Amino acid sequence: MKVSIKVPLLDVCRQNLPLQAELTEAFERVLLSGQFINGREVERFEAAAAAVAGTRYAIGMSSGTDAILVALMALGIGPGDEVICPSLTFFATAGCIVRVGARPVFADCCEECFNIDPAGIEPLITPRTKAIIPVHLFGQPADMDPIVELARRHKLAVIEDVAQAYGSEYRGRPAGSIGDFGTVSFFPSKNLGALGDAGLLVTNDATLAGTAFLLRNHGEHVKYHHRLVGGNFRLDALQAALLGVKLPHLGAYTAARQEHAFAYQAAFQGLKALKTPVTHLDRNHIFNQYTIRTPRRDELKQFLQDRGITTAIYYPVPLHRQECFRPLGPFPELPRSEALANEVLSLPVFPELQPAEQDAVVSAVREFFRS
Ligand SMILES: *Cc1c(COP(=O)(O)O)cnc(C)c1O
Repeated sequence: MKVSIKVPLLDVCRQNLPLQAELTEAFERVLLSGQFINGREVERFEAAAAAVAGTRYAIGMSSGTDAILVALMALGIGPGDEVICPSLTFFATAGCIVRVGARPVFADCCEECFNIDPAGIEPLITPRTKAIIPVHLFGQPADMDPIVELARRHKLAVIEDVAQAYGSEYRGRPAGSIGDFGTVSFFPSKNLGALGDAGLLVTNDATLAGTAFLLRNHGEHVKYHHRLVGGNFRLDALQAALLGVKLPHLGAYTAARQEHAFAYQAAFQGLKALKTPVTHLDRNHIFNQYTIRTPRRDELKQFLQDRGITTAIYYPVPLHRQECFRPLGPFPELPRSEALANEVLSLPVFPELQPAEQDAVVSAVREFFRS
């Protein structure tokens, strides 16, 4: 008789419950302090979080999305400007460009690592181009050296979207420390997940850090005196305290993700109809997602779902095909992003995935390709 188990894509409770006592203690500390906005909890977390990104400055943010928005605002990007970004990414990357009044210019991706293809960027640069936003998709940094070199040559800013790659490295340098800004998300599904929305903006540039710090709080430099028009982009003291409990475990979470990824790589060798993710040797891939590729994607997803295994498609619609951006187009075709949108599938790779669960995924995938 076949015993089947349900395998979730992610189970945040398995991560948070072992820390219940410490998280509760952090909650009580904030509760009793009465300081819910700004203050010591935020500052303490920012200092610890800057160390992971290897940057001089880290500014707590209300979300990863707001971190991108504030980075664009701090760089003075607005109407008439263009910003180059990948199309195969989460919506926020391009959504924020439009929110500041600028125009997203979509670049195609590398077929192997899914990240923005540096070779495709230069032809997209115009006199209106102000910045490039490479996204470190699924936990593997984009090829930053050629991107930074291009940016220097054309006097463009670089904002690294580190939402899925906080703690990863490119040629020995932490993701987020290479461009002018790095934007981090602590959405619960990210490698470091808050108990709600939270984010971080990191930079080594003192002037940009100062501007971002003001923008986070309505541009207020002295109480009721506003130098800039900012917004409320603050990180809650409560989330900062809870994140402070989880941050010391990030390395162990990442190691567990990598172990699962390597197990999948070994198990899927020899399956010709399935492409496993490519990890470049000069990068530390931290596997926020383990994403495979197959032309029989939809069929495989259904096959796994029928066996109790949940998977996800990141992303089914590339951003240059999104309805809301249509008035900004027409956008040229991006054949690799479009092909990948039809063929990618992310398998469960969360740190607490159990060996029996991973075995169930592997067996089911193998069975599918035998049929
Ligand atoms: C999650 C994510 C964001 C947005 O982060 P939030 O904290 O959810 O606002 C931005 N970009 C990418 C690539 C993401 O994966």
